[in-house]
Amino acid sequence: MSISLTPLERKAYEIIRKSGKNGILQSELWRILGVDSREGSRIALRLLKKGLIEREPVVHNGKRTYRLMLKEEKGIDINIDLVINIPCFTCSQYLRCGEGSYLNPVTCPKLTKWILSEVRKRKQ
Ligand code: SF4
Repeated sequence: MSISLTPLERKAYEIIRKSGKNGILQSELWRILGVDSREGSRIALRLLKKGLIEREPVVHNGKRTYRLMLKEEKGIDINIDLVINIPCFTCSQYLRCGEGSYLNPVTCPKLTKWILSEVRKRKQ
């Protein structure tokens, strides 16, 4: 998936990314970007809508503001046990299998069965 960003949004995203897990205060981001709070808020909202960042309300110097941080990826937890059990690694047809071939990952019953069993395990 590709998300298009304006140059200013990209710059803001990079600053937020470099701020790490603790994130960065909105006002600090505006200062670094050299934009006013109105323009800065618009940039943050666009990054929020695109699902790239999240914000947390905080009080700083007695004022309510937001801390901005990259959105945590909540995908599948990949570990070596999961990868090792992919049937392709031990499949005798591995060298004959591929896109456009009779044997391919899209129609393979062995691979489909394995994927479905992993999905079922995660739902339990
Ligand atoms: S997709 Fe199926 S046939 Fe192809 S290598 Fe994997 S397990 Fe073997």
